[in-house]
Amino acid sequence: MTAQLANDLVSRRGLLLVLSSPSGAGKTTLTRLLRDKEPTLALSISVTTRPRRPSEVDGVHYRFIAVDEFIALRDRGDLLEWAEVHGNFYGSPRREIDQALAGGQDILFDIDYQGAMQVREKAAADVVSVFILPPSIPELKHRLERRAEDSPEVIARRLAAAKVEIDRWRDYDYVLVNDDLNRTFPRLQAILVAERLKRERQTGLPDFVHGLLKDL
Ligand code: ADP
Ligand code: 5GP
Repeated sequence: MTAQLANDLVSRRGLLLVLSSPSGAGKTTLTRLLRDKEPTLALSISVTTRPRRPSEVDGVHYRFIAVDEFIALRDRGDLLEWAEVHGNFYGSPRREIDQALAGGQDILFDIDYQGAMQVREKAAADVVSVFILPPSIPELKHRLERRAEDSPEVIARRLAAAKVEIDRWRDYDYVLVNDDLNRTFPRLQAILVAERLKRERQTGLPDFVHGLLKDL
């Protein structure tokens, strides 16, 4: 699990960047921005039994599958983690993740707190977790309504779930209040940059330093 980026002299382990938030706080938006700016970051594409939203593309945003297919994947052990969220099943396929890590890539997960805890249990040293909070509840409601892709019943259900979700903020390494994207996004990038530079992730350091010392 090592990566040598074009501008880096030292190779390093990939990391698993986990983003969670109550629905509507902005993690899909932040995920999209991050992927535009960080082309080496692979996105873990989840499977879900939820109906596709009009703006979503199968295989890009999610792989939309039937409940029996989900249960078969889960029971075969093909999911790294899975959870029932807002009445639908969601899971992160293991195969794509293993392939990406083997290629030395960082991987981004947009998953709920139940999934975040499972990934952390399985790969504690590689996980960097970030929780996104909305600036206020009226703004959260406003964002869910403005997105205009869910029915009023679905929006009400998601708002009701926000209480339990927001309460999980202590389980994460970092917490961002997403008031203004122009502030939140650079902060998220800064987390990624700093975490990539953690000494223990820079697995090529012993060889690099050895080379430096040899030439002294
Ligand atoms: P989530 O993935 O957490 O459910 P989204 O990223 O889909 O949330 O964001 C919900 C809505 O709020 C979208 O319409 C998005 O454009 C908007 N949004 C996200 N972040 C902000 C922000 N900082 N300020 C204003 N609107 C935002
Ligand atoms: P949405 O339906 O709005 O796309 O996502 C609803 C919730 O499910 C969000 O909190 C999202 O992070 C979470 N989610 C999406 N994919 C997965 C997954 O593979 N596993 C888990 N545990 N949660 C997921």
